[in-house]
Amino acid sequence: NGFIELGLAPELVQAVADLGYTQPTTVQQKAIPLAMGAGGENGRYIDLMVSSQTGSGKTAAFLLPVLHTLIGQLAENEAAARAEYERAAAEAIARGEAPPKRPKRKDPTNARNFKPATPGALILCPTRELAQQVAHDAIDLVKHTRGLRVANVVGGMPYQLQIAKLQNADLVVATPGRLLDLQRSMQIKLDKVQFLVVDEADRMLDLGFSDDLAEVNQLTSQRKQTMMFSATFAPRIQQLAMRVMHDNGSSVK
Ligand code: AMP
Repeated sequence: NGFIELGLAPELVQAVADLGYTQPTTVQQKAIPLAMGAGGENGRYIDLMVSSQTGSGKTAAFLLPVLHTLIGQLAENEAAARAEYERAAAEAIARGEAPPKRPKRKDPTNARNFKPATPGALILCPTRELAQQVAHDAIDLVKHTRGLRVANVVGGMPYQLQIAKLQNADLVVATPGRLLDLQRSMQIKLDKVQFLVVDEADRMLDLGFSDDLAEVNQLTSQRKQTMMFSATFAPRIQQLAMRVMHDNGSSVK
């Protein structure tokens, strides 16, 4: 399986195998190593601009590297939490006390436990249909990953349901308008976003989302990695890239 050579987490290699993918497509072969930091002086915080058509496998080209890094971070956090629990338990036992109870995850549908969502990754899509498709693909790719949550935020869907699902989400797939609504009503905070993907940037501009994208850019971590996918690199797309990227990024055609 050609995905193993890309260095992806085994959970993801298994998921693509389940989907019947045997070889990465051209855009996946080019973009995934760059997005994972190969060849970038600034480690993985290298911004990317990718020219890709629908049908090229572009969705997995951005989902796989983002999920790979989220999986790595999740494993690190879990190992740290386990080590901390074991240290506290050993201390309690040494003092002749009962070990502390393992912390339980709070029920996110209980309003008393409400906290704004703080996802680590954000994928922006121009339309509700595309956002739903991308979220669906992400869910397929995390099926072997425990504890990584994907949420979908789009206009025209019941608000309460989306908010309940949004709690504890690690990766959010959204259309810009609804995302900013949720941000303004403090259901979601964007400052932990380390990966920002703009899918179909050309259609984003056609639909008038330029200012929304600039606003999201401001609200997210200034150390994040930004990836822009677009059918063309027309001058107006490059102008958008100048607004939302640290530098001109690396271009992949
Ligand atoms: P996209 O360009 O992301 O819309 O993907 C187009 C289609 O290609 C989708 O149905 C994917 O499931 C499929 N696909 C993506 N990557 C691969 C791959 N490496 N091998 C085979 N099919 C793929």
